[in-house]
Amino acid sequence: MKKIAIYPGSFDPITNGHLDILKRALPLFDEVVIVVANNVSKKYMFTPKERLDMILDTIKEHKLTNVKAVILEGLVVKYAKEIGAKYLIRGLRAVSDFEYEFKLAATNNHIDNSIDMVFFMAHNYFEFISSSSVVEMASGGVDISSLVPRTVSIALKKKFNK
Ligand code: ADP
Repeated sequence: MKKIAIYPGSFDPITNGHLDILKRALPLFDEVVIVVANNVSKKYMFTPKERLDMILDTIKEHKLTNVKAVILEGLVVKYAKEIGAKYLIRGLRAVSDFEYEFKLAATNNHIDNSIDMVFFMAHNYFEFISSSSVVEMASGGVDISSLVPRTVSIALKKKFNK
């Protein structure tokens, strides 16, 4: 049976931190499906389509194989069941991430305990990168090109006209 994992997140926008987790996870699975979450209670910088397109550009730029990306409105765990994915990939940075992820794992477990979460520790260099900090820096005209894929750097420059 094909070993499929889902990498869910906001990816608002995708950063080199996300990309690092993806590259480290790929060798462990036959296929990774990136799920761009569109949570009605969250406010995003980019539309789901924009977030998806930046991910697809990044996959192409880095010549990654066995990975695809989709937009999802519903529950990730339910979608996992639908496509036969048994694992959810997440990244851990600070201790604060742990608390959030711990609760998320408990919730997911309640919905369906046949699906496991797999965590990757952020590597040192990526530890401080978050979508929101990148957006904040870009809005202030800081060069963020070493922190995000090329397509994101271009999109942020356009957004803030800097
Ligand atoms: P969400 O809103 O679901 O937390 P994010 O796009 O912020 O979506 O993050 C998706 C996943 O990627 C989370 O598990 C998050 O901890 C992880 N992640 C985000 N940035 C990094 C990074 N720099 N290094 C490692 N993991 C990261």
